[in-house]
Amino acid sequence: MRSDDLFERAKTLMPGGVSSPVRAIRPYPFYTARAAGSRLTTVDGRDLIDCCLGYGPLILGHAHPEIREALLRQLEKGWLYGTPTPLELDLAGLIVGDHPGVETIRFVSTGSEATMAAIRLARGYTGRSDIVKVEGGFHGAHDAVLVRAGSGATTLGVPDSAGVLPDLVAHTRQVPFNDLEALEAILSRNEDVAAFILEPIMGNIGLVLPDSGYLAGVREITAAHDVLLIFDEIITGYRVGIGGAQVRYGVTPDLTTFGKIIGGGLPIGAFGGRRDIMDLIAPAGPVYQAGTFSGNPATLAAGCATLRHLHAHRDIYRRLDEQTRAIGEQVCDRGEGSFVQMGSMFKYFFRDAPPRNYREVKECDTAAFGRFWFSMLEAGIFLPPSQFETNFLSAAHSEQDVEQIAAAYVQCLYG
Ligand SMILES: *Cc1c(COP(=O)(O)O)cnc(C)c1O
Repeated sequence: MRSDDLFERAKTLMPGGVSSPVRAIRPYPFYTARAAGSRLTTVDGRDLIDCCLGYGPLILGHAHPEIREALLRQLEKGWLYGTPTPLELDLAGLIVGDHPGVETIRFVSTGSEATMAAIRLARGYTGRSDIVKVEGGFHGAHDAVLVRAGSGATTLGVPDSAGVLPDLVAHTRQVPFNDLEALEAILSRNEDVAAFILEPIMGNIGLVLPDSGYLAGVREITAAHDVLLIFDEIITGYRVGIGGAQVRYGVTPDLTTFGKIIGGGLPIGAFGGRRDIMDLIAPAGPVYQAGTFSGNPATLAAGCATLRHLHAHRDIYRRLDEQTRAIGEQVCDRGEGSFVQMGSMFKYFFRDAPPRNYREVKECDTAAFGRFWFSMLEAGIFLPPSQFETNFLSAAHSEQDVEQIAAAYVQCLYG
């Protein structure tokens, strides 16, 4: 069956026809038959250069031979035990060793689960109720973080989804990114804040970088108010380098959440941090957290193989940075808009200056983005289908892929 027919049938079986909303491309999404390296092959027989990469996890590209081998070796031995495994120690050891902010770690099954538990833990540790997040910051699909952006720091949070009780988001306050004064103001007014959670590099509103000194300022202010600092490194962990944003910017949070890359393309999440805080998690302490699939062996095998490969080939990061920069240079050579890059994350904004926060991202022309996105797909490049998602490169992208991506950008933006 072709993609359009599959989608017609999918709509009769699943709400909106999809398993996650961003995939519901109009008039219909393409269906993928298989993937290898930098390419997706659709059921309609098209080969596409993939710059979505599963929304971030696939830093080594699709079906990387070493990950595949590790997975196959694990599958021979079974794939769910419900007991501890030696593999857990391997992955935990790697992540703890790479992150100054992580002394111990708990594995879960998704990033959403990780931030949910980290927030619960921060409340359990401090005995306080409120959390502060950044406007437009994405931390998964659970109640406490589904707050409408733009509900100001002074007012109570407003749910961003039907079915979320106003009571549940009343304890979630928001501040704009790159605004230390707003953070200082809310923390000095409110004694009941348990934690400030943010993506140190914002990757779910396109790509918005921290101003120089912002993250260090965030660390100082949260410490001065005795508020826990949670870095959501679900995208940035092992994406912007080994050690994520905390190493890149030299700022150590109290808790860190992980996901995406650390599972090598299989479902995962994790949260870790200071030992005295983490020791409150059950069974060591009174903050409950549990999961049937937590630390499942197949994911751990894929995750370990990925991190080991990155450790053994650290030059991957330099090469990805150069390749992404090369795309940016060609795009910026012409005309308008702005190209934002951080390592292998990149985004073109229909806006003259790079946005510094969610409000500025919202000013971008989304209709223009929609037209651009379709013309990129026509040109054989699959970008995440939203102005609010980041694009990625992987180690599997060749020089020709990169040239083709850059040429398609120039063609689709400037004709
Ligand atoms: C993807 C993402 C999440 C949610 O992870 P899931 O595995 O989709 O639940 C949370 N925070 C950030 C920053 C993310 O990019």
